[in-house]
Amino acid sequence: MCDIISFDEARRILQERPAWFLARPEPYNPAPKRPGQCPICGYPQGTPGFLVADVPVGHPLFGVLIRCPACWNGYLPEYLRKISGLSPTMLNWRLENIVAEDGLQEATRAAWQFIKRPVGWLTLWGSFGTGKTFILACIINALRDRQIAGMYIVAPEFLDRLRATYEPDTPIGFNKLFAQVRDIPVLALDELGQVQATDWANDKLFQLLDYRYRHRLGTVIALHFDPAGKAVPPQFPLRFQAILSRIKEFPVVELSGGDVRGLLRQEAHND
Ligand SMILES: [Zn+2]
Repeated sequence: MCDIISFDEARRILQERPAWFLARPEPYNPAPKRPGQCPICGYPQGTPGFLVADVPVGHPLFGVLIRCPACWNGYLPEYLRKISGLSPTMLNWRLENIVAEDGLQEATRAAWQFIKRPVGWLTLWGSFGTGKTFILACIINALRDRQIAGMYIVAPEFLDRLRATYEPDTPIGFNKLFAQVRDIPVLALDELGQVQATDWANDKLFQLLDYRYRHRLGTVIALHFDPAGKAVPPQFPLRFQAILSRIKEFPVVELSGGDVRGLLRQEAHND
């Protein structure tokens, strides 16, 4: 017989240790959560699930079942906001705000298609200021409405954070940070082409994207060049070519509308 306690009680016992120290119960299965599963505990939506704390034998929380805060306490909207990686302004960006003059019609259609069935990849490409970031954030926001967890990351910043986990005394280790991004049901990956193409960076990005490709996890990628064109920046080595060939198996949409700063201003104004 296991003890069952609330999430708040577990948090009190864990003190400063954040929620990601909690893993789903036996058998511990780090498999990615799917749309239709609670993004925190992994139980099917509608079945209130439990978590266990990732603690050593002898710890007061060892072997204790913790009520999932999303399933039991309505914490899901807050969790989806926190995990989204979006700034307060970006959390308000909505596909519904796009009008014809913005020149984003094709991208908007592709985004709605993806939101309807957020598996596999979608790639948006266009030069700077064409609205790629805007569409990525809108997709994550529309998925939040459907209780699906999505995360927006800027590829070079994510690699910096990953690298920083090698420093001593970092609050989150490499494996946990990497798994958090690798396993998120939907990942919006901005500025993939702007990564400093070191061997290490290429390795990590390849691992991340290869995993998401093999599991058909929803992944939206923004690039500043045409992945099908000959103009692939020469600094990208072979592993990046492997990513590009996978990108081309899924929809690729060009954003050619030009400047969307008006749209962003209007949105920021509505805050
Ligand atoms: Zn849950």
